[in-house]
Amino acid sequence: MVENVVIIGSGPAAHTAAIYAARADLMPVLFEGFMAGGIAAGGQLTTTTDVENFPGFPEGIEGPDLMERMRKQSERFGTRIYSETVNSVDLSQRPFKFKTDEREGLAKTIIIATGATAKRDNVPGTGDKELWQKGVSACAVCDGALPMFRNKPLFVVGGGDSAMEEAHFLTKFASKVYIVHRRDELRASKIMQDRARANPKIEFLYSHKVVSVDGGNSVEQVRVEDLKSQEQKTFPAAGLFFAIGHVPNTGFLGGQIETDEQGYVITVPGTTQTNVPGVFAAGDCQDKKYRQAITAAGSGCMAALEAEHFLSSHH
Ligand code: FAD
Repeated sequence: MVENVVIIGSGPAAHTAAIYAARADLMPVLFEGFMAGGIAAGGQLTTTTDVENFPGFPEGIEGPDLMERMRKQSERFGTRIYSETVNSVDLSQRPFKFKTDEREGLAKTIIIATGATAKRDNVPGTGDKELWQKGVSACAVCDGALPMFRNKPLFVVGGGDSAMEEAHFLTKFASKVYIVHRRDELRASKIMQDRARANPKIEFLYSHKVVSVDGGNSVEQVRVEDLKSQEQKTFPAAGLFFAIGHVPNTGFLGGQIETDEQGYVITVPGTTQTNVPGVFAAGDCQDKKYRQAITAAGSGCMAALEAEHFLSSHH
């Protein structure tokens, strides 16, 4: 049997694509992955608590709860969901081939919605069973406005544009934001550096690294080391944000789809089309700019509509 649409991934992009494809009677199959990219089925939102910016939930909703609801909605319209990771695809001819540990099959169209994984340094105190999501985060836009960070000192780790952006954003809420960077020069563009330097709430700790994050139920202090003098210092702080980049989960494509140098799938602007006709990409695996659940969902909708259009024009 050749599937009409195979959706790879399980975040907001994948499930929105599944809901649209299923409601268009395309009988989609969705591979939600099994700890693919180190993330449980349901995607990045399963690693967070309150989601307060997804429309429709004025009181906020827990990330795992939101994803469970999306999954149910996909199933309600007949999506077949397998808890398997797609290990490889062969896109050299249509129908395309795909393979998991348990099965292989053929697909007329494929929607890649495998997301990205935020990088985190291995700093004591920041792990999943420690203070991760108890003040330690990798997304300022998502978590910065939480009451726990209001008028408190915060730390941002990184030296690129996103670190500058996140620090600047956090100054709306924090009393002060320290940017910790290992080198004595930033990687960020000049304009972003200038903006951060001009912000009186931002202080740079160049040639420093974070040694540990400590606290009981939430972050209380951050210990840093000056890499030149080896001197250590502890600061009171309510939060620490990693802004050291993301890794898109696109390795399984084996270079058959055009990506940028970091591995993000390149799509035709304003669409979800990749360089291979019939293969579409949605969500964070092709978006290094917005990285939000709602933008991922929006592009998942686009991918399903584009796949439907492709199927009706290629028999
Ligand atoms: P993802 O959510 O990245 O999910 C992709 C899924 O695909 C993963 O489960 C992965 O395991 C699976 N997968 C990967 N490879 C394969 C494969 N080969 N086969 C099968 N499955 C595979 N956004 C907001 O809008 N609001 C928030 O409050 C918010 N909070 C956040 C908090 C944290 C801690 C983080 C990390 C992110 C947060 N975000 C938030 C961002 C949001 O989670 C992402 O933008 C969104 O989840 C991206 O969705 P996606 O559909 O691209 O895929």
